[in-house]
Amino acid sequence: MKNGKYIYTPGPVHMYKETLEIGSHQTPYFRNKEFSKVLVECENTIIELANAPRGSKVVFLAASGTAGMEAAVINFLGKKDKAIVVNGGNFGQRFADICSCHNVAYEEWNITNDNLENIENSKISRDITHFLVNAHETSVGLLFDLNAIGAFCKKHSLLNIVDAISMFMTDELDMQKHNIDVMIASSHKGLALPPGLTFLVLSPNAIKKIQNSSSYYFDLKLYLSNGNRGQTPFTPAVSIILQLQQRLKGVLEKGIENEIEHTKKMAEYFRSNLKGLPLSLFSHHMPNAMTILKVSNQIDALDLVDKLEQESGVVVTPNGGTLKHKVFRVSHMGNMSKEYIDVLINALFKYYEK
Ligand SMILES: *Cc1c(COP(=O)(O)O)cnc(C)c1O
Repeated sequence: MKNGKYIYTPGPVHMYKETLEIGSHQTPYFRNKEFSKVLVECENTIIELANAPRGSKVVFLAASGTAGMEAAVINFLGKKDKAIVVNGGNFGQRFADICSCHNVAYEEWNITNDNLENIENSKISRDITHFLVNAHETSVGLLFDLNAIGAFCKKHSLLNIVDAISMFMTDELDMQKHNIDVMIASSHKGLALPPGLTFLVLSPNAIKKIQNSSSYYFDLKLYLSNGNRGQTPFTPAVSIILQLQQRLKGVLEKGIENEIEHTKKMAEYFRSNLKGLPLSLFSHHMPNAMTILKVSNQIDALDLVDKLEQESGVVVTPNGGTLKHKVFRVSHMGNMSKEYIDVLINALFKYYEK
């Protein structure tokens, strides 16, 4: 991969200098008190930033985000359970596929344009026990209403499992207010770290409901018992955890609400500077984390994505499937500034000038 490109993809995202600096050092040995201290500090800060209920625990996996989704399904859903899977795109489909793969019963809610704010009165069958949702369905830039989902899960006593991978740090998430039992986040999105670290925040209610896992590596009970001494059962993503420690410290000092506000401003700045370009917003419920844009009929979105990279060194994200030629995505996660966004805006104007 060539360096020096401008990156606006929803993972990996543009990283901070301090993060890169830590990444340039030798990875230290980790089965010692020094590293345990780091892991415990990360755990406590995550609990604070997510406003997780007292007694919550964090499990760190050396894996990409999908492993977090799979770990949640295999540790919380047993033979007698049945989940509602909100399927709003590729990531919702992934939850459904994971359930199928492990013979977990589920019912799909295919939701493409709605943010679920009115689900309160939706009827559900008696056998539903769990709710699985990707808070931001990254494939189409659709942000679901965590308040409404939380109230709905409370009303029906469902275990609320939220994949917050592409919205934690950039859009509001509050485990207590939103009644979330399991929250999944990953290093390479809003946290702006390299890929390879995923964590699950488990509420005390969730911890009580962990079942006997059919997996060796993803047995969350093992992680919880090791976590009590600030360790993980297997080699953790040591360097990324050191980067995480530094990043979390920064967010805590700044205040997570300011971190979210910054991303919001960046998203608004980008969206308001598109005037004069034949682009329209694709989703009506976009997060701060990302903008998804529809191109006009004469243009092929894939060609636009390709030319931006070839001619301006600007990397945005194409879509797959039926939207392939119609839309592209721009992430606002990570180290964004107006100057950095101007590079993309100028590249877009340059593309359309021809
Ligand atoms: C990025 C992302 C994931 C994780 O994908 P990986 O490729 O496994 O890291 C999961 N859910 C959502 C909503 C995402 O945006």
